[in-house]
Amino acid sequence: MSEFSPRQKAARVKLLILDIDGVLTDGRVVYDDTGREIKFFDVKDGHGMKLLMRAGFEIVLLSGRKSEANRHRARDLGVDELYEDAKIKLPLLEEILEKKGLDPEEVAFMGDDLIDLPPMRAVGLAMCPADAWDPVKQVAHWIAQRPGGHGAVREACEFLLQSSGKWEEVTARYF
Ligand SMILES: [Mg+2]
Repeated sequence: MSEFSPRQKAARVKLLILDIDGVLTDGRVVYDDTGREIKFFDVKDGHGMKLLMRAGFEIVLLSGRKSEANRHRARDLGVDELYEDAKIKLPLLEEILEKKGLDPEEVAFMGDDLIDLPPMRAVGLAMCPADAWDPVKQVAHWIAQRPGGHGAVREACEFLLQSSGKWEEVTARYF
């Protein structure tokens, strides 16, 4: 086990990589009669992500699936980097780190299922929602109290902001 606490690990993070289905959503996908996918995203998660970006953090979305809804949500949030159809996430993570010149310790990855285990093991801070699959929870350094699609990402964003000492600065306008 690492000698560092989750808060100490979080204090080093500059980039948050988020899985989409089961993390930014509750994992359910609705199909309409034309086969178009409908998903529910949480506006509170969205605001957390905006606060995080305002504080200078980077956010990347990394999904194993491909969906028009993902692209709409990324655009809505102002997240430029969305990787879809990533069935094997580790090489993509390595590519992202290389491109950004970041060390693994400067990255947090939040996932909920087995496909997320390799990248979660490779970064400084592994995060997951309360309803992540059990092996994912066992690997996570930090587990949200809320489930995916219902505030887990908001909690993760606030944890990163508080751990880095930037919470007061980015929320001053509200208090
Ligand atoms: Mg997932």
